[in-house]
Amino acid sequence: MKKILSVILALALMMTAVLAVADTSYTATVDSQIGGVGAVTVTVTLADDGSIAAVTVDECKDTPGICELPCEQLPAAMVAANSINVDTVAGATLTSNAILAGVKAALENGGVDTTALMEKKEIVVEKAADETLEADVVVIGAGGAGLAAAISAEQNGAKVIVVEKMPKVGGNTILAGGAVNAVEDRSEFAIKQNDSVYWHYWQTLNGGDWQGDPELVMTLVENAYDGIQWTKELGMEWLGEDAVFMVSGGLWPRAWKPAGMASAGFFETYGKYIDAHPETMNLMLNTKAEKILTDASGAACGIIATGETGNTITINAKSVVVATGGFAKNVALRQAYDSIWGILDEKVMSTNHEGATGDGVKMLQALNADFVQMGNIQLLPLGDPKTGSLSGNIEHGVDTRIFVNKSGLRYGNEAGRRDDMTRDLFAQEDAYMWIVMDSDTYPTGDEVNNFGETANQLVEAGRAVKADTLEELAEKMGVPAENLVATIAEYNRHCIGGDLENQPDEFGRTLFGPAIDNGPFYAGARVPTVHHTMGGVRIDTQCRVYNENGEIIENLYAAGEVTGGIHGSNRLGGNALADTIVFGRIAGESAALCK
Ligand code: ADP
Repeated sequence: MKKILSVILALALMMTAVLAVADTSYTATVDSQIGGVGAVTVTVTLADDGSIAAVTVDECKDTPGICELPCEQLPAAMVAANSINVDTVAGATLTSNAILAGVKAALENGGVDTTALMEKKEIVVEKAADETLEADVVVIGAGGAGLAAAISAEQNGAKVIVVEKMPKVGGNTILAGGAVNAVEDRSEFAIKQNDSVYWHYWQTLNGGDWQGDPELVMTLVENAYDGIQWTKELGMEWLGEDAVFMVSGGLWPRAWKPAGMASAGFFETYGKYIDAHPETMNLMLNTKAEKILTDASGAACGIIATGETGNTITINAKSVVVATGGFAKNVALRQAYDSIWGILDEKVMSTNHEGATGDGVKMLQALNADFVQMGNIQLLPLGDPKTGSLSGNIEHGVDTRIFVNKSGLRYGNEAGRRDDMTRDLFAQEDAYMWIVMDSDTYPTGDEVNNFGETANQLVEAGRAVKADTLEELAEKMGVPAENLVATIAEYNRHCIGGDLENQPDEFGRTLFGPAIDNGPFYAGARVPTVHHTMGGVRIDTQCRVYNENGEIIENLYAAGEVTGGIHGSNRLGGNALADTIVFGRIAGESAALCK
């Protein structure tokens, strides 16, 4: 009897504990536009007086590199403001919205009236004092090119300050798949690949319709492999030759892959270097450059920036590197300059981060800098239909996948140039296509795509479909099964063992991997998306900036997407990250060594 009583007592105590927790903590799982169905799970705990005591993001399946900051900052902001109506984190709006919606849903599902908690509370931030800092080199932008420049400047003896307007480093570079085109000339591997620095040079110029500056292109291709070695010396790990592949629109299998997750490895590596050099390197986040300062002779000599609290920060420096990236997120600017598409209004989404607004263009225009080929804007046929982002893409490389339209039919050369592939897609119903592949590169479905997402995760989140047979796959895609089956049978004829010479592909494709015949099969939908603004400020091979009179603006350097004239009318896939490493390094060295 005693035993039974003590068990009942213990059970009663446990029940109370559970009820106490259940009384104040509420959990919900919600969808996110990036991570798809059920991507974000949050728990919110209310104190006895109904105020928000704690918020945790238990799970977030949004893109690594974007999702960390809102997961960290929003819970603290909600507790501090005692409100669900707090500002989203710049550069991570969609993840922020999902977290806020999750907290609201958790409370409402638990029967809590959220009216008071939805009130916007003004958080007054005290403005910090204006300040003036000194450096040898100031770098504007902490994306790929900016951080490569900053480190290279430091390695060449400079004291460096980097300003980044967003709350985090990475820019567009961190959103990329990580592929870097590079050839070690005359190496055994290059010979085996039928590749050479000169072939990379020729393809880059030809792929951009010979609009690229040959000297800049030669600088890019000659230094790309060395650039990878430089990142290795800094501690970055890369996959070996076996992993070298042809990235979409890369036109040749010469893209090296970082060992870690997509492009995040660059920033881990660069971040470690910066952390290890606190005496000589200062990275200032939430600090937006507004103006490049010049001395009486017109040479660059610093910048004026706005700090996190709205204070003015003046940085005097011997030289300035502009690495502000492109303007694909600035609809007005891209419409004003676009000379290729004629349709780049807000309906066409973009792969870019929110900070890609072309600030560098404005700051450089104020110095009468010369701009080249600003109308050359690159679109990709590979955007997520909801967000335009690159992530969520089921494909690995070019050779293992095809594109089919809403009728289940192939419509173009999937191994072609990026502009051609995008034009082909615009010509399809709703400018909408499916990437279709089999299990060759996803033997279990737990293998990752180029963005660290497993095939199973993409399927679970509703961002891809999977089926054992092509007929079932067609049903899930909503395309006519007989068309998809016939399309793939025809495609498979050209795959390994096919006779391309006598039976060429009807769309002119020449790169074919193994047949698509190894179920289960996968398909993921994609739409056109604005990707890279290839025009920009005119530089020479030392990354010095020209003015409109063809003269060098002394002590001013630029690298990365803000520059123009390298990629011509169409950039090869895999050349942008190479560009950030190669020209970032050169800009840093030039800026450190200038008089
Ligand atoms: P790239 O590596 O080609 O230069 P990214 O897009 O990777 O291009 O990086 C550009 C970086 O510059 C981004 O992180 C962006 O937020 C930053 N940036 C853009 N404008 C400014 C500005 N006015 N002040 C500070 N940083 C800026």
